[in-house]
Amino acid sequence: MPEIFFNTARPAVPVAGGPDFFAVRRIFCVGQNYAAHAREMGSDPERAPPFYFSKPADAIVQNGGIVPYPSRCNDLHHEIELVVAIGKAGRDISAEVALQHVFGYAVGIDLTRRDLQAQAKKNGKPWDTAKGFDYSAPMSSIHPASDIGHPESGRIWLEVNGRPRQDGDLRDLIWSVPEAIAELSSYFELRPGDLLFTGTPSGVGPVSRGDSLAGGVAGVDEISVSIGN
Ligand code: MN
Repeated sequence: MPEIFFNTARPAVPVAGGPDFFAVRRIFCVGQNYAAHAREMGSDPERAPPFYFSKPADAIVQNGGIVPYPSRCNDLHHEIELVVAIGKAGRDISAEVALQHVFGYAVGIDLTRRDLQAQAKKNGKPWDTAKGFDYSAPMSSIHPASDIGHPESGRIWLEVNGRPRQDGDLRDLIWSVPEAIAELSSYFELRPGDLLFTGTPSGVGPVSRGDSLAGGVAGVDEISVSIGN
């Protein structure tokens, strides 16, 4: 007989510098938000308005964790990203006041089944299986903006087994954090607990079973995870 399970707890991420946890509601992601990455994906960054996809909240993997190599995939890719944690509700938020809705920032890796994404793009199908799979959202603890401010520039990088893969700068975001929040909030009413992965710089590439990933955003945090079997 199946067990009926009434656990209403949300996935949560530690808040740096104290005992608190940030209860995660939804994970949104911006696609192709750095020009050089848009080009390496075969797009024209000049003409593309921001677009969004999502991952389930329980796809989060805590910093230092192990990511099982996903099923149905032979081309798992890393995408290092600045993550925004929303702390104040709003819809149709203007870019001018968007930062007032930010609780803090983290470093995340938008893991992607690139082979499934390529198939989906070719066939005009959704990206859920390519982006929203189990363990697809490793992220660091969240650093309150009251401690670190609102980063607008700074190095964003990732290496695999100690070898450089991605090395960019937040100032090269096509849509800034306030602009990305403003646009997202025209589609969805944002609430505390929502996260926004803001896009990745160029240099994305495959990872294999047993690989170690390390990355960071200057002024925010660093993250490391390993790929399991
Ligand atoms: Mn991404």
